[in-house]
Amino acid sequence: MLIESLKSFLDKGQVLSGMELKDRYHHIWKMEESLQAVALVMPRNTEELSKIMKTCYAHGQKVVIHGGLTNLVGGTETHKDELVISMEKMNKIQSVDLMSRTMTVEAGLILQDIQEQAKVHDLLFPLNFGAKGTAQIGGIISTNAGGLRVLRYGVTRHQILGLEVVTADGQIISSMKKIIKDNSAYDIKQLFIGSEGTLGIVSRAVLKLSSLPKSRVSAFVGFNEYAKVVDFLKFMDGGLAGTLSGFELIWQESFIAMTSPPALVKAPLGHDYRYYVLVESMGSKQERDQALMQDLLEEALEKKLILDGTIAQSQADLDWFWTIREDVHVLVSQCNNDQHFDISLPINLIGDTLEKIVVELKLMEEVEKVFVFGHVADGNIHLIIGKRVQSDALIHRINEIIYAPLKDIGGSVSAEHGIGLHKKAYLHYCRSEAEISMMRMIKKTMDPKNLLNRGKVVDG
Ligand SMILES: Cc1cc2nc3c(=O)[nH]c(=O)nc-3n(C[C@H](O)[C@H](O)[C@H](O)COP(=O)(O)OP(=O)(O)OC[C@H]3O[C@@H](n4cnc5c(N)ncnc54)[C@H](O)[C@@H]3O)c2cc1C
Repeated sequence: MLIESLKSFLDKGQVLSGMELKDRYHHIWKMEESLQAVALVMPRNTEELSKIMKTCYAHGQKVVIHGGLTNLVGGTETHKDELVISMEKMNKIQSVDLMSRTMTVEAGLILQDIQEQAKVHDLLFPLNFGAKGTAQIGGIISTNAGGLRVLRYGVTRHQILGLEVVTADGQIISSMKKIIKDNSAYDIKQLFIGSEGTLGIVSRAVLKLSSLPKSRVSAFVGFNEYAKVVDFLKFMDGGLAGTLSGFELIWQESFIAMTSPPALVKAPLGHDYRYYVLVESMGSKQERDQALMQDLLEEALEKKLILDGTIAQSQADLDWFWTIREDVHVLVSQCNNDQHFDISLPINLIGDTLEKIVVELKLMEEVEKVFVFGHVADGNIHLIIGKRVQSDALIHRINEIIYAPLKDIGGSVSAEHGIGLHKKAYLHYCRSEAEISMMRMIKKTMDPKNLLNRGKVVDG
């Protein structure tokens, strides 16, 4: 009945069901598991998306939205009684406005395509992370993704000027403005950014573009003390005078794994340091900025802030350095039963807190690997944990070890990946009862039938 209604306005190839779902999946790391769903539909524009939601609303049909399927919190997990809306056919750039420096895009467009198109116009779309070749802008907006350049440009929220969404009952709420300042009452688009598809489906967006930096300088440096990492951050932030664009910290065990076989890249520094920082500046003159980085590293060495350092000398070196940091799959592939974390904590407490957590994890017989790295300047640390065995009880024990200490120090269980299914039970470690109950109230108001991504983030 539902499928017949959908087929009445969608083409045959836009509705997949039964055996047609065999080669579909709910996550890029679970391609071997065939998708279980009532059907999968692929709208080609906002009007079709709206009609799909009107039909689902009339039938009380639960819906899961699939973007690039790269989220790390179970956000796209799907049950056999749910309908999947895949945004893959809404993947066009509608316009690039060079005067207002904006790009108007459909939600299914892949991040890398946006980055490349901006570059053609000598502009930058600054969001950047390992999944850029697969993640879609709609998924990125819905998870308010961060990534490798938040320090300089902010998170996704700061790159969105206009947004169009389709609500649970099929209404189109369109505010595709290109203006930067708008204090005319509630900023409704902010509700949809980061709400992981629980309040509405992003169909289009107006993205803010920035000037394309003309130079990029990166260096790897080594430390043995965490306090020196923080001192070095302050030193580089001051010395680079506004051009610091990346400051990524990698713990020793992760660095070794990222730069030893089976990883395809070698290490730019010896394996002897406890911490490695990949620091990046983006400026306007390559030679001058390279020389400035060189001077600053020499001064940092003299001041004993750092123990060693090496600067990328060519584009090939830049690609090499950033592959080390971006290719997180190398770590995942070395973990059995992998478990992922992206916590936030005050920057001065990262060293000690993580040390205690890692010691406690390594005392557990079931734990084989603990990889730690992160966007330290944003106070955001990632952990990937490999385990000999897998069980819900074990996952919960590890979650408690990592999340419980965050409550007292004012941290967050999610710096960037969101809550999805996997972190829902731990939301109380960083959000008050009053906040969670307000979230539930908003969900009930905007999705009264609890159709959109049901059971994820908060209960409807
Ligand atoms: C290798 C790797 C590295 C990563 N690095 C980072 C990083 O550095 N920083 C970071 O923040 N994240 C990172 N991520 C996770 C990141 O959140 C996702 O990659 C991305 O933001 C999600 O985009 P997606 O299109 O894959 O969304 P999906 O995974 O498909 O969906 C994510 C959530 O959004 C919903 N959704 C999808 N599309 C829409 C839409 N159009 N409207 C409404 N809801 C929608 C889904 O239902 C789901 O709840 C990484 C992931 C991987 C695999």
